[in-house]
Amino acid sequence: RAAAFLQRGQCVAFPTETVYGLGANALDAQAVAAIFTAKGRPQDNPLIVHCASEAQVLSLVGDVSPEARKLMRRFWPGPLTLVLPRADKIPLVVSAGLDTVAVRIPSHPIALQLIEQAGLPLAAPSANLSGRPSPTTARHVLEDLGGRISAVVDGGETGWGVESTVVDCTTKPFRLLRPGGVTLEELESV
Ligand code: AMP
Ligand code: MG
Repeated sequence: RAAAFLQRGQCVAFPTETVYGLGANALDAQAVAAIFTAKGRPQDNPLIVHCASEAQVLSLVGDVSPEARKLMRRFWPGPLTLVLPRADKIPLVVSAGLDTVAVRIPSHPIALQLIEQAGLPLAAPSANLSGRPSPTTARHVLEDLGGRISAVVDGGETGWGVESTVVDCTTKPFRLLRPGGVTLEELESV
């Protein structure tokens, strides 16, 4: 049912290994705009696109350097987000007008299954009202977003409560944009 909602352009919250995300079809500008509305999120704050496979990621981005591929191989699925050149099929609303896009493959089995069943990449920020803490249970999601979204998939408590590490792979050297579940030391070791 959650996958069907997503295919119809609606917003669905789901668990990841970091926090609950609020997902929508990343290829549908209107569906993505509904995420910003539900959260009260400023339009200039870009979203992370969640995928279920490397092939799906590669279909959404431009050239990927061998160094970026190394990070993918080592840390995906997992809490590492890579900023890469944006392919045209990703609507501008996803990346707040940037010519880059942030992508990751989560390791939570429910997140992966939902992305696969929907057959879509999911743009998904944390499933809280803008400015509130990131939710680690379905109940917390509903306290913030109940009545504003189509569904939440209840997968129990999420592991970390720590967000994904964001690395910009479009600059040389790469830049750490946000610390998170994967440490700088782990990144440097690769
Ligand atoms: P959230 O999903 O709420 O954890 O926020 C995602 C964060 O990822 C944004 O606030 C940015 O800091 C970062 N981000 C997403 N897309 C990009 C991008 N194209 N370039 C740089 N940073 C990005
Ligand atoms: Mg957030």
